[in-house]
Amino acid sequence: MAGTSEIEWTDVTWNPVAGCTIASAGCSNCYAMRMAARLQAMGHVKYRGTTRKSGGRYVWTGRVNLDEFSLSAPLEWRKPKRIFVNSMSDLFHPDVPEAFIRSVWEVMEKCPQHHFQVLTKRPDRMAGLFASKKISAFANVWIGTSVESGEVADRVKHLVGIENATRFVSFEPLIGRIGEIDLRGIHWAIVGGESGPRARPMDEEWVERLYEICRRDDVAFFFKQWGGRNKKAAGRELHGRTYDEYPLDLDV
Ligand code: SF4
Repeated sequence: MAGTSEIEWTDVTWNPVAGCTIASAGCSNCYAMRMAARLQAMGHVKYRGTTRKSGGRYVWTGRVNLDEFSLSAPLEWRKPKRIFVNSMSDLFHPDVPEAFIRSVWEVMEKCPQHHFQVLTKRPDRMAGLFASKKISAFANVWIGTSVESGEVADRVKHLVGIENATRFVSFEPLIGRIGEIDLRGIHWAIVGGESGPRARPMDEEWVERLYEICRRDDVAFFFKQWGGRNKKAAGRELHGRTYDEYPLDLDV
């Protein structure tokens, strides 16, 4: 239903949806795809049919499963948490019905004690739902998009247009130069290299440039990791220190 997370910028993950499809190059080594294959093999009903083997590795089948049962989980957590919404899918995947997205939003509205972190590679759909007032901005719901290279930097524009929300961009896995980008209107940036057996390299210069842009545009900067095959060894220091900034003064 939910799990304590090892992801540095969150406390727990909450997964009302399982299964996804590749959206862009940043998805190629999707951790959720590998994990879903494992959970499916272990017999977890929620992941049934979501992955298949292809060319020696597991890939998404395109099936998206909704887990109504997990919807109420955050309501039962009394202690305030930072909650990463749908680490095993994308809430704004085209196959997630609008009514289900609204159900997720209703739960988040009922839980002001938590901070929810909603991260999508489909910010155009998210922005459309905000524009048509199907979903609204809440102080405890942070909305974000992933940008792995300059090729998909346009995703940020969809985010900036959503008013009254805490907006963040995850530059992870950073697999290409971002180039010039305007981050005004963005509150928080996460930067990190890819990890795992097929990790693609991250150039230090790309990180430095993003750091400068965040300072210029007044964006809280969180440096997650250098990544690589051994991410623990590579560490998460930049300029001889760690950067663990958040968009609000959270008690973390
Ligand atoms: S959008 Fe997220 S969950 Fe879906 S394939 Fe890409 S990285 Fe994986």
